Amino acid sequence: MKYINNRNKEPKELAEYRETPDATYDGFAEKKIVRQSLSDEQGYICAYCMGRIETDTCTIEHYIPQKHHQDSPYSEEEHKQQSLLYSNMCAVCDNKAEHCDKKRGNIPLEILNPHNPSCEELITYSLDGSILPAGREKEKVQKDIDTLGLDCNKLKKLRYGAWSDDIWKRFKQEYEEKDWSKELFLKYAEKYRNKKKTKKGLRFHVYCNFIAWYFDYYANNYKKR
Ligand SMILES: [Zn+2]
Repeated sequence: MKYINNRNKEPKELAEYRETPDATYDGFAEKKIVRQSLSDEQGYICAYCMGRIETDTCTIEHYIPQKHHQDSPYSEEEHKQQSLLYSNMCAVCDNKAEHCDKKRGNIPLEILNPHNPSCEELITYSLDGSILPAGREKEKVQKDIDTLGLDCNKLKKLRYGAWSDDIWKRFKQEYEEKDWSKELFLKYAEKYRNKKKTKKGLRFHVYCNFIAWYFDYYANNYKKR
């Protein structure tokens, strides 16, 4: 999960539509404009798993779901109101219901929220690509990890592969081991926490926070042979 920083302005089409009588989310015809705005502010990664998303294939996720769930702390009316609020929306990946919103359905999330600046502190990783709860509220975080399927085998493999088959391989081609240092690892951790200029605009690398975590881990633990 990556905190969604620097939010775009709400598209005016959505703001205007919300003011029309009997507005419903299903009745809103300009969803593509919202998908564009959301995926752009998120650097084209899924708000939950950090996998790649594109404007045409991503889905608009409602953090407070459109439909009421029996465990929801909100009323039916509140769910309906939230369904048209940009502040309740994020863009998520397409998948076969192994993870993210497709796995979640309308189950309420306890604590993990990509709109909350502290969401990244609630999560840590392990060397094999697993995701683990961190901080004081581990039980709640674990529940959300399970609800969102963030530790499913598919995502574990994708995270680890992004590191070992791509980033780490290139790093080793670029630097000889004698030149590796804590500073270099920290520099790379920082690099992957930020968006990068690409031909398609500013984007995060897929699974960027996991990659940053790995470089941080090496900064603190790597022993030269
Ligand atoms: Zn996802």
